[in-house]
Amino acid sequence: MPAVHTAATTTIATAPRYRGRFAPSPTGPLHAGSLVAALASWLDARAHGGVWLLRIEDVDTPRCSPAAARTIQQQLDACGLRSDEVVVWQSTRSAAYDPALQRLLAAGLAYPCGCTRSAIEAHWQALGVVHQPDSERIYPGTCRNGLHGQPARAVRLRVDGPIDWTDRRLGPQRQDLGREVGDFVLRRADGLWAYQLAVVVDDAAQGITQVVRGEDLADNTARQIALQRALQLPSPGYLHTPLVRAADGRKLSKQNGAQALDLRDPLAALQAAAAVLGLPELSSRTVPDWLAGAVAGWAGIIAGFATRSDP
Ligand SMILES: [Zn+2]
Repeated sequence: MPAVHTAATTTIATAPRYRGRFAPSPTGPLHAGSLVAALASWLDARAHGGVWLLRIEDVDTPRCSPAAARTIQQQLDACGLRSDEVVVWQSTRSAAYDPALQRLLAAGLAYPCGCTRSAIEAHWQALGVVHQPDSERIYPGTCRNGLHGQPARAVRLRVDGPIDWTDRRLGPQRQDLGREVGDFVLRRADGLWAYQLAVVVDDAAQGITQVVRGEDLADNTARQIALQRALQLPSPGYLHTPLVRAADGRKLSKQNGAQALDLRDPLAALQAAAAVLGLPELSSRTVPDWLAGAVAGWAGIIAGFATRSDP
């Protein structure tokens, strides 16, 4: 009946169904830290009756390998975490990224930059500003008003002022992009797409409503929200999960010797990831039973987050 059809359409339009994703860069196999983010994103999607997608973030092609991506898929599969839709590979998505970049350039929101890394470094050294280790130099805006006769190398997004957002676990967040980051790269000098542009275009194209990922990526959120606003795209919700630390206290990563997950015992790997998320231990004997129990446990954990913001 037409009246029923209209009512159903209205419901869908006002409350988009939860869509989440896990988006690893295939620079190596999953380790204990990356499984925490994968599991949290899957549990959050299931606890909301939503869809969970796997997206392979291989825009940085020299650092990524198809073999690592296949290994990651096998590891997730052993843990019962399977994409509900076709897996998207960012290395195939140039036709989506280029129009977004052209729109930003045409609107004057992005501009070509001719600066080399050493020119940016020299700018700050001349001002006596010391470089903090493990951090990127702030872009000083040299090419905002033209290339000064330099050839164009990268393309940057023009940013100003603070971005405020609320993380479902960490609470209110603020980053002053102009002061703390500067105009950031959308297309790199080597012609590759920057991570920020690819993520924002793909999250929108896939209709992602909630981003659940490791806390090491929280620092990208303000840049991604600025880019969403520049492209007039909706911003998803964000939840950043606790990190697994290496023995030296730093975030566990491939660079400091994280071991690939041993999936001869996927239940043990899942249980270890769940403990990082604060989930109680489950006595299930099969992966599907364990996951069902973990969804119930996760629903209890996010009920505690809801006092900060609603997903
Ligand atoms: Zn420049």
